[in-house]
Amino acid sequence: MAYPKLTFDLNKIKNNIDILGETLKKDNLSMMIVTKSFLADTKVTPVIDANPYVDYLADSRVRNLKRMENLSTPKVLLRVPQQSELEEMVKYVDISFQSEKETLKMTNEEAAKIGKVHKVVLMIDLGDLREGIFYMDKELIYKTIETILDADNLELFGMATNLTCYGAIIPKNDNLSILTDLVKEVEAKYDINIQMVSGGNSSSFYLIDKGEMPEGINNLRLGEAFILGNETAYSARIEGTYNDAVTLSAEIVELQTKPSLPIGEVGVDAFGEKPYYEDRGNIKRAILALGRQDADMDSMSPLDKKIEILGASSDHLIMDVTKSDKEYKVGDVITFTLGYGGLLSAATSEYVEKDYKHPFGEQVI
Ligand SMILES: *Cc1c(COP(=O)(O)O)cnc(C)c1O
Repeated sequence: MAYPKLTFDLNKIKNNIDILGETLKKDNLSMMIVTKSFLADTKVTPVIDANPYVDYLADSRVRNLKRMENLSTPKVLLRVPQQSELEEMVKYVDISFQSEKETLKMTNEEAAKIGKVHKVVLMIDLGDLREGIFYMDKELIYKTIETILDADNLELFGMATNLTCYGAIIPKNDNLSILTDLVKEVEAKYDINIQMVSGGNSSSFYLIDKGEMPEGINNLRLGEAFILGNETAYSARIEGTYNDAVTLSAEIVELQTKPSLPIGEVGVDAFGEKPYYEDRGNIKRAILALGRQDADMDSMSPLDKKIEILGASSDHLIMDVTKSDKEYKVGDVITFTLGYGGLLSAATSEYVEKDYKHPFGEQVI
């Protein structure tokens, strides 16, 4: 097997989903699992599909959802759709998150062409200032809802909000209550039932344990929480989850003892940044065949806690392995756990191989 390599442990992924599922059940929340951080990998998504805790599979790209065509869990498009992708979207996506009247009208036309009723979740912006109609603009909210209700091939399935993505606003009982109040208002005004009220992503998870999830929220969309086991409002680990369900491994191609300070005048590195060096005297420097083209070195940490990343260029990662208990040698492999950025970059690099422990069909289901 070639390196660098991303390894998905399907049993650990299943465990993480089970742990989150148990917590969500406490508040009667349905669970949407978000697959975009690993490109909805076709070896991983069947494990999610088969998990009884999972109610929806979601991704930000139609292309990824199309790859899940054969899975039975309903598919959700999280990113407000491009008008240019609606024809494909209505084919492969059951539910889409939307916020634009014109796009909704066009979605209705595309759905009519293939005789489908497409479900819509209306996005409301509670102040994070990414997608969604601004919550104070009631007139626009009502007009958009009327557009959906008037369309024969659209169903107003839900309302949702997204926080902690652009504005880094933390979900709380008070801001999420704006959404649940709005849902009540809409239900009364139009005499309808809004089935899904989705209260955010992995950053809303902590509200369940604190007992602060507003009544009326009945769904969460979880990406980082299930794949990395992170609660993202306060960057805490979720108890009982693995943070090494996905790991990145790379091979040592050079290991030599050299000074820790470069020799000569310091200019800028390959990325235009002026590096900082700490003088540690002579150290054992391992060079790994892994670079910034493959991974985000600021979002990965070695399993061996006694070794340290010093820096990286496009194709080389440089580590100080002086203090390790292990006698590393050339050809050895070093394994890292990943942060969200690290996972995203490694999963999208075509240089990174993918490997699966306990492949689908063995112990997982
Ligand atoms: C990416 C995304 C999510 C999942 O976010 P995590 O922080 O990984 O849980 C949920 N909702 C929307 C709209 C997204 O774009």
